Parts: sequence; structure tokens; C-alpha cells
Amino acid sequence: MKTGKDRVKPDKPGKPDRQDKPDKQGKRDKGERDHVPVLSDLEPEQASPEDCIFCRIVAGELPSRQVYADDHAVAFLDINAWHRGHTLVIPRRHVVDLVAGEPSLPEIAPAVDAVARMLNERLAPDGMNILSSAGRVAGQTVFHAHVHVIPRYADQPGFTHLVNPVEVPDGELDSVWRQISAAP
Ligand code: AMP
Ligand code: ZN
Repeated sequence: MKTGKDRVKPDKPGKPDRQDKPDKQGKRDKGERDHVPVLSDLEPEQASPEDCIFCRIVAGELPSRQVYADDHAVAFLDINAWHRGHTLVIPRRHVVDLVAGEPSLPEIAPAVDAVARMLNERLAPDGMNILSSAGRVAGQTVFHAHVHVIPRYADQPGFTHLVNPVEVPDGELDSVWRQISAAP
């Protein structure tokens, strides 16, 4: 019979030994229920631009619903929009997140500003969130830096309704894309 102890995730072969963290190692021994995940439990982030979906979007190898581009940044609709007009602003160069490597936030800040104002003007939302996640623990799932610009609407207010993982039909994404892209 399996016990909680049996389910404790073993150290992965080839991963650095975590004996240098005796307090956290101690917690693991008590079983899964008490185990507090630590960063070193997680798979390493994909680092290579060749494997990066956002680099492939920048290169034009993968399609996107682009709404903005400048010398440093590209912006396109999020394929799983949390709210109507949810857009991602990314640096053209591959950088894992906004706090890794050479600073990328300063170079994409003008694009974030332009996109937020454009969404405000074209979609007339009731509010807007601008956020970025750095690291798996923070919720990051694509490891090419990006800023989410998320128009918000009064019928789904506040942080509790921010993340809204409802599948959005292609037709709906196309419709908002047309509305954003329409000449002013
Ligand atoms: P994060 O979870 O903060 O790393 O955000 C990554 C975002 O990228 C998610 O909201 C995904 O829906 C979005 N995403 C993943 N692949 C694509 C894609 N091919 N085109 C547009 N958005 C994507
Ligand atoms: Zn990339």
C-alpha cells in the first residue's frame, strides 16, 4: 500500500543534491503533505531560442495576431485570453524573463505603454492590468519575457476574476483583433 512517504518525489538523477538545504530536506522527509516545493524541484526552464515559441513568433515562423511592433518589441493577442483584448508584449531578443540577463523592461516599456493606450482607445475597457511573471513559481509558463496587458470589464472585476482560463474560440480572437487593428 502506498503511503504519503512513498509519494515523496525523489531527487532527479543528474540534479544537484539538495543536502545543502537541511531545513527543506527535513520537510520532504515528512511526506508529500508537508512538502513545500522549492525552486530546485522544478525542471530547468527552456533556454534555447530555437525551442522558444515566442522567438518563433518574432521570426514569423509561427502565426500570431499581431497588434503592434517596433524595433525592440512585438505585441500579439494571447491565444488563451483571460479577458477580451488580452495582449502580450515581448522583447524581440530572447531573454527568459524580465529580471534575467540584460534588462529588457526598459526596451519594451514604450511598447507596453503604446499597447495599453491603444487597447484603451479601441476597446474602451473599464480597467486594465499590466503584469509580468518571472519564474515558474510566479506562474510563468513561457520562458521568453513577456508583459500581459489585460483589459478589464466591469462584469468581472478585481483580482479574483483576473485569471480566467476559459477557451476562447478563434472567431472571437479574430473579432477583437479586427477591432484593435482597425484604423482610427
Ligand atoms: P505566462 O503564463 O505568464 O508565462 O504567460 C504565457 C502566456 O502565453 C499564456 O497566457 C498563454 O496563453 C500564452 N501563449 C502561449 N502560446 C501562445 C501563442 N502561440 N500565441 C499567443 N499566446 C500564447
Ligand atoms: Zn525566445
